[in-house]
Amino acid sequence: MLAAVYHGEGVVRVEEIPEPVPAPDEVVVHVEACGICGSDVQIANVPPGHPSTPPVVLGHEFVGRITAVGSAATGVEVGQRVIIDPDPKCGACAFCRAGRPANCANIVALGVYRDGALAEYVAAPAACAFPIAEDVPAEIAALTEPLACVVNATNRAAIRPGESAVVYGAGAIGLLFVAVFRASGASPVVVVEPNPRRRAVALEVGADHALSPEDFASRRAGILPLGADVVADAVGSALGDAIDVAAMGARIVVFGMNQNAVVPIRQVVITEKSIGIFGTYITHYTFPAAIRMIESGSLNLTPIVSDVVPLADALDGLARLRSGEATKVVIVP
Ligand SMILES: [Zn+2]
Ligand SMILES: [Zn+2]
Repeated sequence: MLAAVYHGEGVVRVEEIPEPVPAPDEVVVHVEACGICGSDVQIANVPPGHPSTPPVVLGHEFVGRITAVGSAATGVEVGQRVIIDPDPKCGACAFCRAGRPANCANIVALGVYRDGALAEYVAAPAACAFPIAEDVPAEIAALTEPLACVVNATNRAAIRPGESAVVYGAGAIGLLFVAVFRASGASPVVVVEPNPRRRAVALEVGADHALSPEDFASRRAGILPLGADVVADAVGSALGDAIDVAAMGARIVVFGMNQNAVVPIRQVVITEKSIGIFGTYITHYTFPAAIRMIESGSLNLTPIVSDVVPLADALDGLARLRSGEATKVVIVP
């Protein structure tokens, strides 16, 4: 089968590899669509901005249909259309047993530490499969995993109706924050993003203002006289700005992933404003909620998918996302 394989040191090749065989507790999924994530770009960067264990098939944001079921797998059947949680939790480590599975010490993430879904087929633990309705377009269903991550982050920020919000970055994650904050009743929702194309998409999915960093600096006092009640850093290097714009008692979610970012912080501002800062990047029992939101069509997510690309052209898709022109590239095997 065809797959996009990361070989280390910035090398990704689309090549033929053997089809996966399910372990006893696994399923094999025929991939309908798989999004390229910012973390895939970070893995492929030199030096990598995200760890991984090459050689590995990239891709963890996907929808597909079960084609094989391992001998000991339960609750799944051939033919089911499913989303897969790409971060299998062990259920047995100290953090899982303390009710914090997002901090599981034994996560072997699909598309990072074991083969993922930028391929025709992918094997995954059966316990990670969540059924999804047949009538959801594949490229929208492929947004379920990042949406579930953003719902977790939104829960941690405990946003309340009428609170103001600022989102740094209008890549796919920033845009999902805009959609979820808007659906949560936040107002105004302000996006700070240098790329004009991404700013236009932010307005489509529900932002009240989408501003360049320069425009935000000059208009901020008028739009947010008291600062922002909730701030999301969907860039991975905006914590300094987030602390600066935060209102008294604000919550900041630090979501963007960049191992190479080192950000100067004036710590005393956190203390003076009594800001809560939450690091978060994966899901926390949020797949069912994300699937319901996707199935109901309650969020306007269609504008987020900027490119649908065949698997053979996955490297072009990666390049488009890295360039900042694309918001979400979805690969269809
Ligand atoms: Zn992702
Ligand atoms: Zn665990």
